[in-house]
Amino acid sequence: MQEKGTISIHTENIFPIIKKFLYSDNEIFLRELVANATDATQKLKRLASLGEFKGELPEAIINVSLDADKKTITISDNGIGMTAEEIKKYINQIAFSGATEFVEKFKEAKDANEIIGKFGLGFYSAFMVADRVEINTLSYQEGSEAARWDCDGTTEFEITAGERDTVGTDIILHVNEESSEFLDEHRLQQILDKHCRFLPIPVKFGTRTEQVPDGEDEEGKPKYKSVEVDNIVNNTTPIWTKAPSELKDEDYLNFYRELYPMTEDPLFWIHLNVDYPFNLTGVLYFPKLKDDFSMMQQNKIKLFSRQVFITDEVKEIVPEFLMLLHGVIDSPDIPLNVSRSFLQSDGNVKKINTYITKKVADKLGELFKNDREGYQKKWSDIGLFVKYGMVTDEKFYDKAKDYALLENVKHEFFTLDEYKEKVAPVQTDKDEQLVYLYANEPEKQNFQIQAAEKKGYDTLLMNSPIDNHFVGFLEHKLEKISLKRVDSDVIDNLIKKTDAVAHALTEDETQKVQEIFDKAIHKDSMKVEVESISADELPVTVTMDEMTRRMQDMAKMNPNMAMFGAMPESYKVGVNGNHELISRILKAGSEEEQVKIARHAYDLALLSQDMLKGEELTNFLNRSVSMM
Ligand code: ADP
Repeated sequence: MQEKGTISIHTENIFPIIKKFLYSDNEIFLRELVANATDATQKLKRLASLGEFKGELPEAIINVSLDADKKTITISDNGIGMTAEEIKKYINQIAFSGATEFVEKFKEAKDANEIIGKFGLGFYSAFMVADRVEINTLSYQEGSEAARWDCDGTTEFEITAGERDTVGTDIILHVNEESSEFLDEHRLQQILDKHCRFLPIPVKFGTRTEQVPDGEDEEGKPKYKSVEVDNIVNNTTPIWTKAPSELKDEDYLNFYRELYPMTEDPLFWIHLNVDYPFNLTGVLYFPKLKDDFSMMQQNKIKLFSRQVFITDEVKEIVPEFLMLLHGVIDSPDIPLNVSRSFLQSDGNVKKINTYITKKVADKLGELFKNDREGYQKKWSDIGLFVKYGMVTDEKFYDKAKDYALLENVKHEFFTLDEYKEKVAPVQTDKDEQLVYLYANEPEKQNFQIQAAEKKGYDTLLMNSPIDNHFVGFLEHKLEKISLKRVDSDVIDNLIKKTDAVAHALTEDETQKVQEIFDKAIHKDSMKVEVESISADELPVTVTMDEMTRRMQDMAKMNPNMAMFGAMPESYKVGVNGNHELISRILKAGSEEEQVKIARHAYDLALLSQDMLKGEELTNFLNRSVSMM
C-alpha cells in the first residue's frame, strides 16, 4: 500500500501560518496531542463496553517520550487507532474545509487557543514545533492494516503501510530548530504538569528511581534497593471528579495544598456539581483573605475542560467578586476557544455565572445558620468578600443581606436586621432618620466613640478596604438610615434630637466670639461656627462633615476624580457657645489675651484629631510652657 496526495486545503501552505500565528503559545501542542490520545483511549473503552470492540481491552496508558539525539517527541496511545481511510478523512482534510475560513480569519485571532478550537486544528498544532510529523497507527476494527502517515510540513503527505502491531497510535514529532527548547526533559515535564496533571488516563513520561524494601542485612536492619518505575505525571481522579459523599475534609485540604503549596489552609470549600442545563464540576475554596484586596488579581481559579487544563484566567467566566476564591472549575460547556468578548455574551457562561454565585451565596447562608459562632470568627476573612459581592452583584446581595454582619467597636456582631433593632430606639433623630455611627480608626476616634457611648449610642467598625464603598452602598440600600463617621461632627449634631435651641450667648457676644476665633485661626479651610451644644461637650471641635470627607476619600481612591481639581480641604471649627470657657474668653482682659486662649482651645481640638503639625505645633508647645 502506498499513496501520495495533497492535503485538501485551499491555500498553498498553511503551516507557515500556523507556525507564525501560534508561536507565542506553542507549548499547547502537547496538550492537544495528549488530549487527542485521551479521547482515542476513552473511545476504545466505550466501544468495548458496547461490545463493538471484541479484542482484549488493554490498560489505558499514554506514553510521552523524548529522544533528544534524534530530536523527536513521541506521543503513543493504545486507543482506537485509525485506518488509512480515517487518516485521510480526519487528518488530511483539515477539519473538512475549515482551512479556507481559517486563512480568512486568522488575522483577527488573538491566541492559539482561539484558532485551534475554532477550526479543529488540534492535531495540526504539532506543526508549531515540528517540521515533520509521522503517524503510526493500527485501528481497532477487525482486519485493519497498520498505516503510516508522513508529512514534512508542506501540503504534501504520504501514506504507506505501517508497522504497529497493537491497536493504537504513535504521533512522532521531528522537532524543528526554533523549538529545540522542547527537547528538554524538564521543559516537557513542566508542560505536562501544567496541562495534563489531572487527565483521566495515566500519562507516562520516562521513568524515575524509587527505593523499595529488599530484605534485611546481617544485623537485621531493613535493606532497600533502587528500582526504575514509570513516571506517571498525572492524578487521574482529582477530587472534583468524585462524589462529595466519598470525600473527607482531609481530602479537600490535601488537594488544596497540592494546588497551592505554601498557602495557608482555606476556610471552607464548595463542591460544585451540575449536569443540567450545563455540565460543570469543581471545587471552590475560600482562602484566608485577611482584608487583602490584592489577593484578587492572582488568577487562583483554574479552568479545565474534561480534566484538561485550559487557563487560569477566568475573568469572563466567574463574576468578578468570586475571583477572590481559589480552586478548579471543569466544564466542557464553556466555549474555550472563542474570543473573550464573545464569552461574556455566551448563554452558558451566563448560566454558569449565576449558578456559581448562587452556590456560593447558599453555602455562606448555610454556614451562618449552622454555626454562627464559627462564621463570626471567620468574618474578618469572608467579610471583605461578602461585602464586595453585595456591592457588585444584585443577586448575591439579595441572599447575603440576611447573613452579612456588622461588627461594632466592641467586636460584637449583628445582622443588618439585628443591628437596626438594637439601635433604632436610641439613634433615631428628630426627623425619624436612623443614624448609624461608625469608626474607621477606633484608636484615633476613641474620644468620639466614648462621647457616643455616654449617650447610649453604638459605633460600628468600618475599617476594611471596601468599607468606604460599603458605607455608601448600605445607605443607598437601607431606607431612612444614614451612616456618619463618629468624628464628622460633635455627637449632638450627628444625631439631632431636638430643634436647635439658642445658646447662652447674646447676639453681640456671638458676633464677638466669631471675630476672636477668626482672628486666632484666619485660615480659609477653617470655617468658624458658634453653636449651641451641651455645656459638657468640648469648647472647640474641628470636624469635616461626612459628605465632604466621602468625596475626598473617593478622590483619593480614584485618580479620575482629579477632574474636580484638587479637592479643597474644608473643616468646621465648632465653638460651643454654652461652654464655660467661651464665657471666660469674653471676659479676658485684652483682645490679645482673648485671641490667645481661643487659639489654644483651637490647637487642642487640632491635637485631638492628630492635625497639629509643624510650626503650629511648635507655637502650641511654647505657648503651653509660658502659660504654665
Ligand atoms: P479534533 O480533536 O478537534 O477533532 P484534531 O485535529 O485534533 O481535531 O483531530 C482530528 C481527528 O483525528 C480526531 O477527531 C480523531 O478522529 C483523529 N485523531 C487525532 N488523534 C488521534 C489519535 N491519537 N487516535 C485516534 N484518532 C485520532
